[in-house]
Amino acid sequence: MSTTVGDAGAPRRVIAIVDDSPVEIECPAWCVIDHESDSLVDLADVHHNGPEISVSIPTGTGPRRVLTAWMSAWPYGLDLDGTAAGMTTAGLAVDDPAASTGECENLSAAQLTAFADQLSAHVDQLRRLAEQLSAANGGAW
Ligand SMILES: [Zn+2]
Repeated sequence: MSTTVGDAGAPRRVIAIVDDSPVEIECPAWCVIDHESDSLVDLADVHHNGPEISVSIPTGTGPRRVLTAWMSAWPYGLDLDGTAAGMTTAGLAVDDPAASTGECENLSAAQLTAFADQLSAHVDQLRRLAEQLSAANGGAW
């Protein structure tokens, strides 16, 4: 399964609820969070998330989403990893964040590109493994 990452575009002004009060904030076009229904304690908690992309792997209990990634920005405070305010990063969760602890890594564009390069090499190895598997089974499967 995969979704498309939203296009860049003009930010919009939206209302966030901070400490039970409406606060007007700038929200990037790629953000999918409904800030009015996301009640926050502090302005530093305001963050923006883009749409998630992921791949599904087959398991004995059905497909499982892995390698979920999304853009994330914390414009007014540090995120949990100490990323500086105002930085936009890519969140990357090894497992489905909805089904796990929700832990993820925040990566820079260079880090995400390096990971994508590694993943691309891994895909080539998976294809070679599939060819070996097919040959080991006489071309069947
Ligand atoms: Zn937003």
